Amino acid sequence: MDEHVDRLEAAAGWIAAADRVTVLTGAGISTDSGIPDFRGPNGLWTKNPAAEKMATIQHYLADPEIRQVAWQNRLAMPAWTAEPNAGHLAIVELERQGKLHALITQNIDELHQRAGNDPDKVIEVHGTVWWTRCWECHDRRPMREALDRVVAGETDPPCLVCGGIIKSDTISFGQALVPDVIDRAMQVSGECDVLLAIGSTLAVYPVAHCVPLAKSAGAKVVIVNLQETAMDSIADARLTAPISDVLPPLVHNSRPTR
Ligand SMILES: [Zn+2]
Repeated sequence: MDEHVDRLEAAAGWIAAADRVTVLTGAGISTDSGIPDFRGPNGLWTKNPAAEKMATIQHYLADPEIRQVAWQNRLAMPAWTAEPNAGHLAIVELERQGKLHALITQNIDELHQRAGNDPDKVIEVHGTVWWTRCWECHDRRPMREALDRVVAGETDPPCLVCGGIIKSDTISFGQALVPDVIDRAMQVSGECDVLLAIGSTLAVYPVAHCVPLAKSAGAKVVIVNLQETAMDSIADARLTAPISDVLPPLVHNSRPTR
């Protein structure tokens, strides 16, 4: 027997029987859309530690030159042209079936919303690169406005309200997570019948805690990732196939039969 097929069928069965599926996604779901995994073996930060320094909040706030380089990099981000892939669309299908309780994502690319998931269901624990936020007054506006200013010649565009430093509305290294967002992620993890974790190594806390929390609340834990994850030992099913291949059958098989 093919063990992978057995596990896939088991997981699809749990999803088919579930009323509430909470999905947790990491960088792995977006790599098929051309967005590199910063921390992976071929990631930007792995190959270029200077890039990680640029993503650290203390350096960003202290050094205008780092901000200027950061703005130039933002102009060229793959997120601006990336399209959702089959993995994203499978989660939209889960929502169409009425099973998606919530979608926790570590990604900052908004590909879940662009694929068609209800933005109200998406919990962005690391924020979004599609918006900017002022470090001083917290004014929030579309990234496009800031990028237009950079193209027009402002190398480090200040906040239009207070003149403060602005950055993408993401959680940089050294920056605190948003407590309300994390609380919500924990809550929806404790409320589901199945926790489906996709494309994350589940090694970054507190988000990784969603997995044992769901497990202890009685949920089945399904992990889809090419590499090993920190939570493999508590998974009820562990699927190592490429995400774009495995998610469509996982969700398609769970269509309710009439
Ligand atoms: Zn401001």
